Amino acid sequence: MKMKFLVSLLLFVLLAVTSSAQTREVAITIDDLPLNGAQFDPARLRKMTDNFLAAIKKHQIPAVGFVNETLLYRAGETDVRIAILKQWIEGGVELGNHTFSHLGFANATLADYEDDFVRGDAVSRLLMKPNKPRFFRHPFLQMGKTAEDEKAFEDFIAARGYKAAPITVDVLDWMINAAHAKARAQGDEAVVKRVGEEYVKFAAQKFDYCDQVAQELFGRPIKQIVLMHANELTAENLDALATVLKSKGYKFISVEEALQDPVYQMPEIYVGSSDRLGHWAFSKGKKLHPPQPSEFLQQPYLDNQRKGR
Ligand SMILES: [Zn+2]
Repeated sequence: MKMKFLVSLLLFVLLAVTSSAQTREVAITIDDLPLNGAQFDPARLRKMTDNFLAAIKKHQIPAVGFVNETLLYRAGETDVRIAILKQWIEGGVELGNHTFSHLGFANATLADYEDDFVRGDAVSRLLMKPNKPRFFRHPFLQMGKTAEDEKAFEDFIAARGYKAAPITVDVLDWMINAAHAKARAQGDEAVVKRVGEEYVKFAAQKFDYCDQVAQELFGRPIKQIVLMHANELTAENLDALATVLKSKGYKFISVEEALQDPVYQMPEIYVGSSDRLGHWAFSKGKKLHPPQPSEFLQQPYLDNQRKGR
């Protein structure tokens, strides 16, 4: 009898351990395709894209890449940039709409925002055939000024086969990329490497923090959606980051699957931000204290801001 009890107990513990390890799930999204941040030449852009796609293939990540089609129209490079967009599709990445010109909803009229959305998928839609774009990401994570504006916009895109894809984890690669770009411009590959390693550590901390907040808010793990960007920092470190996430028990899921989690429903108190975990925290009166990147990672971005770049 006692033996039977011990066996059941052991089975229970094993089940609890494996199921808790399986419950960490994240969908990976990459914004500002084909290139986030300071622009550079096509050969370098192709190499960056190759790095992304190699990591995506290696870890079998069902990613969505959100495109700003205005970035395709660069003098003498439009053809190459469209070919690079095609490369993403061939690499198994689904394209989404991130508006044509990376317009912030907070400072735009509903009509202007809708126009920029419509203009935003002309090329992607052609390249994706027979599939159709399905997901929209708000630039700057800015939703409408009011819940009514946001609802009107989401109804407008729903009529065109789209769903908004909020996020729950921001690893700040859009900021940290400035440190990476600066070191590369200076030819200091040792610093490039150090930025990459510290970025992966910071991102892992941010994931732990977001999981902890989700646990406090919902009493359970949620299906996270992480915001990343089409830059060299993430391209060169996605393999390392995916490896760390896997070692933490994460499984990579699709955006479609993630959006089934009720966390992506609109909280009662409206905030114009598509950082959904932050939105829920605000709505439930919880103050957040997310970890911040070190000064070494942040300073080049702040310097650029100061210089107005
Ligand atoms: Zn963006």
